[in-house]
Amino acid sequence: MNKRLTLLGSTGSIGESTLDVVARHPDRFAVHALTAHRNGDKLVAQCLRFRPEVAVVGDADTAARVEAQLKAAGCNTQVAYGPDALVQVAQSAQCDTVVAAIVGAAGLAPTLAAARAGKRILLANKEALVMSGGIFMDAVRDHDATLLPVDSEHNAIFQCLPRDIAEHGGVTKIILTASGGPFRTREPATLVDVTPEQACKHPNWVMGRKISVDSATMMNKGLEVIEAHWLFSLPGERIEVLIHPQSVIHSLVSYADGSVLAQLGNPDMRTPIAHALAFPDRVDSGVAQLDLAQIATLQFEKPDYARFPCLALAMQALAAGGVASAALNAANEVAVDAFLERRIGFMEIGRVVQSVLDGLSNRTPSGLADVLDADADARRAAREFIAGGAHIILTTDRTGSIDR
Ligand code: NAD
Ligand code: MG
Repeated sequence: MNKRLTLLGSTGSIGESTLDVVARHPDRFAVHALTAHRNGDKLVAQCLRFRPEVAVVGDADTAARVEAQLKAAGCNTQVAYGPDALVQVAQSAQCDTVVAAIVGAAGLAPTLAAARAGKRILLANKEALVMSGGIFMDAVRDHDATLLPVDSEHNAIFQCLPRDIAEHGGVTKIILTASGGPFRTREPATLVDVTPEQACKHPNWVMGRKISVDSATMMNKGLEVIEAHWLFSLPGERIEVLIHPQSVIHSLVSYADGSVLAQLGNPDMRTPIAHALAFPDRVDSGVAQLDLAQIATLQFEKPDYARFPCLALAMQALAAGGVASAALNAANEVAVDAFLERRIGFMEIGRVVQSVLDGLSNRTPSGLADVLDADADARRAAREFIAGGAHIILTTDRTGSIDR
């Protein structure tokens, strides 16, 4: 069956990997819409290749530029811009599948619109689910949408669970693997000096800058624990994090009889993307077959929460419930931006998030408006904390523990 896709965030790392898989199967997939934020040139190149009906960008200037370039090249893709246009292409009757690959909270509105329109959603944008949790899952259920995880760990778990995602008879726990990022073995006392370039250099994966920093702080794994909680309706206590530096086992599911099922593969996002695109079929993703004899050794260790305070903060937010995960996510987005712009240091990311969570007056959200309020409040609190300079880490002692 031919699927018609809206690809939200097509110019990003996940967006490009998705189009790489799509291009291998023109008989299966057609593109209704592509969206980008500011990278008009890349979007134009994608439009010329995939000929979508609609292209969406972030602002009027970029839209005018993209439109002129497309016209000059004889491409009649319509160009729109802004958050409403994203929602339109996500809920359009012209598409049946929406790939949610925008980074951060900006992806929530269109992804939720896709759920409310009953689409088949391929979810990479974990922040959207971390923010809206139960509201998003209710929308999926109430509107008969289908949610397929693209995040490699969640896609692995999905593959290892019984087919019906809501039914997990005999599952005792799920185990999310984590590479540990670029600083797994670095002397903790030296982490204060980490630069954005070092943080974005992941040992196994090539990804966007925000998720690369999240991997370095392990906030990414924390967000993934929250994502797994919602996707697989398991309490936090039954979701474990396991460091596995080779990133070959993408995650595991433990069963009551002692069986542990795992999904393995080379670390390339085209595998989970192809799985979700073609599900329940299997198609070529362009990823080389795994050569275990060549890899020879797989290692595992427990995560070090002292080294990675962001992981512990995410788990606390999940346990707290209410709008704590939305506040955690918002504070982290502000802190990561500040780090990438060299306004705060690497170890200060966790301090910003901690301060926002400490100051949170938590409540149960009664709807999306409450979530968006919590997001806005947390962003404000994070910015104030950063502007006040209270985040600055003054000393590091010889044993590597940080004196706050
Ligand atoms: P990226 O930064 O490479 O790409 C982000 C995309 O979102 C781009 O197309 C960009 O134009 C668009 N975008 C950014 N800000 C926007 C805004 N305000 N409004 C509309 N569009 C906007 O990011 P990525 O690495 O591809 O990650 C995308 C999402 O997928 C993230 O949520 C990330 O956590 C998740 N994810 C990524 C990977 C990976 O390997 N890259 C793996 C698992 C999950
Ligand atoms: Mg992941």
